Amino acid sequence: MALEQEVNCPECGAADALCKSRFDEILVLEFTDAGYGAVHHLTVAVYMVQHSSKLTREGWLHERGLLREFLVENKPPAYIRQQTKDLVESGKRKFKIKSRDGQPVIHKTTWKKTILDVRTENAEMYCDDVTAWARSVLEEAEEIDFAS
Ligand SMILES: [Zn+2]
Repeated sequence: MALEQEVNCPECGAADALCKSRFDEILVLEFTDAGYGAVHHLTVAVYMVQHSSKLTREGWLHERGLLREFLVENKPPAYIRQQTKDLVESGKRKFKIKSRDGQPVIHKTTWKKTILDVRTENAEMYCDDVTAWARSVLEEAEEIDFAS
């Protein structure tokens, strides 16, 4: 029996904290193959929602809002990108997205799905799995209520 204990990601709960290296691999796939790149907007937003230490509270709410716009309101990524760009360029977005202290904004450490559930055998399977991961995370993230 090995004495080392498996260390899961403290934020998404992925075994051996493999989420970060998986995320980096997947981004390379998305940038080199348009079939995989089709869901890039989802991949980034879901990963961020599950790893809130990278975000401010406003940033986290913004990313969760993006997931909702993509998945529930079916807004096209190009439209949302343009909106975001306009807000940033016009200086209307008053909040910071990136965390300065690296403290998690939410305290959820277990999720039904993580990036490790995403299969990369082919682009079709990949896009289906990223979408399923995103839907599952949005559902759980929407239960988090900061007001209480
Ligand atoms: Zn993780």
